[in-house]
Amino acid sequence: MQSAFLEHCRQLLGDAHVLTGEADMAPFLRDWRGRFTGRALAVLRPGSVQEVAVLVRACVAAHVPIVPQGGNTGLVLGSVPDASGSAVVLSLARLNQVRAVDPVNRTMTVDAGCILQSVQEAAAAHGCLFPLSLAAEGSCTIGGNLSTNAGGTAVLRYGNTRELCLGLEVVTPQGEIWSGLRGLRKDNTGYDLRDLFIGAEGTLGIITGAVLKLFPQPKASITALAALASPADALRLLSVMQDRCGASLTGFELMSAFCLRLVHKHFPQLPQPFAQEHGQYVLLELSSSESEEHAVGLLERAIGAALDDGVIEDAVVASSVAQSQGLWQMREHIPLAQAADGKNIKHDISLPVSAIADFIADTEPLLQQAFPGCQLVCFGHLGDGNLHFNVAPPVGISNEDFLSNQDAVNLLVHDNVVAFGGSISAEHGIGALKRDELARYKSPVELQMMRAIKAALDPLGIMNPGKII
Ligand code: FAD
Repeated sequence: MQSAFLEHCRQLLGDAHVLTGEADMAPFLRDWRGRFTGRALAVLRPGSVQEVAVLVRACVAAHVPIVPQGGNTGLVLGSVPDASGSAVVLSLARLNQVRAVDPVNRTMTVDAGCILQSVQEAAAAHGCLFPLSLAAEGSCTIGGNLSTNAGGTAVLRYGNTRELCLGLEVVTPQGEIWSGLRGLRKDNTGYDLRDLFIGAEGTLGIITGAVLKLFPQPKASITALAALASPADALRLLSVMQDRCGASLTGFELMSAFCLRLVHKHFPQLPQPFAQEHGQYVLLELSSSESEEHAVGLLERAIGAALDDGVIEDAVVASSVAQSQGLWQMREHIPLAQAADGKNIKHDISLPVSAIADFIADTEPLLQQAFPGCQLVCFGHLGDGNLHFNVAPPVGISNEDFLSNQDAVNLLVHDNVVAFGGSISAEHGIGALKRDELARYKSPVELQMMRAIKAALDPLGIMNPGKII
């Protein structure tokens, strides 16, 4: 049965695009953080939407589960198969064409396997901005971004991937092609199917194409680093910046002193802008559609007001592109510095912005009480209410010993997140990693509706089984 199925796939795609050798399949089976390696019947690499549809029909006929995969940069074990070896990985990597750009409608239509960075570049070549930006942009794909509703560093101004998408093309779990590639900003014609597939992590169908929103390129972007005493002051600074700069504020990233200490320990070549250490830091970005002078003037007046009011203790404004890149590198090197320092228990949480300072002030002592000496690596997209709230071992305790507390640490942090009105997954999704926790935190009514949608669209349970629900 399996060999007949694989032979059928080879006839459809050609031998070169049906991978079954261990070494060929290895990069598709191992998750990005290297925590889990699954097994698969084969890795299938279709080259067109029609081939995706025919393959899905072949999988239905042979009862073979499908794990859709883009760049395999997901962080919740959603893009890799389980250990059973019964599923195929369906890679969208060969569907990588920009189909059309409409600068007047400010939209572009792309294949799902396009790498995010190439989409940004194609938009820029037409004088437009596609604002989605994240550290994995050189290898993640638009299909993966949509399927995880990715966030990144520009959500404050432009929203999540969901807000950047107008239309979708999807191959259903029955192998039909739904062409919803509409470039409409208004379309109230019944249930919003597009939004069902966005964030579904490949459990409801395979996204093969999308119509994306484009924006005017800002004339200038200015970056600054503010030093302040506490997360509460960072929230006060956010209010000052939003009141004074409005939509010009495009980035607002919180980093604790401990995060920057880790960065400077492992990447001493990166800038160290302040002579003395402060409790917290905020990386700010302002964009202007007018001019650099306009952006600098806005930023300097807002920072001046924050200094006068005692909201911040110090600040530096980047005076060149190189300085600006240096400041962003400090932020982007935090995950790398964490990895260099050892293992962490990671949390990607979101909270109402107004609750963030109280949440940190409440949760840190609870962690210290339960796991004395543990070290909090807290940073994130504060303007979106999204924290990476990671817990590192106490000095002198091995990674292995500390990681044995993972379930207890997760329980403490996530219970408190929910108590403060937050979510246990802000931007990375649920995948297989947080599936059991989801059952704890979603209400029975919500879970029942999610199961009903899954059963209606994918009655055979063939799409990415074991993920989300
Ligand atoms: P994959 O990892 O291949 O897949 C992710 C999920 O989507 C899986 O469930 C998969 O089955 C499904 N899927 C993929 N393609 C399709 C498709 N065409 N149709 C249906 N389902 C599909 N995420 C953020 O949100 N914000 C960040 O700032 C961020 N920073 C990151 C930094 C680094 C260094 C890394 C490694 C990851 C980061 N991520 C971040 C997580 C990750 O990059 C995103 O989730 C990204 O959107 C995944 O895209 P991908 O193409 O790699 O998808």
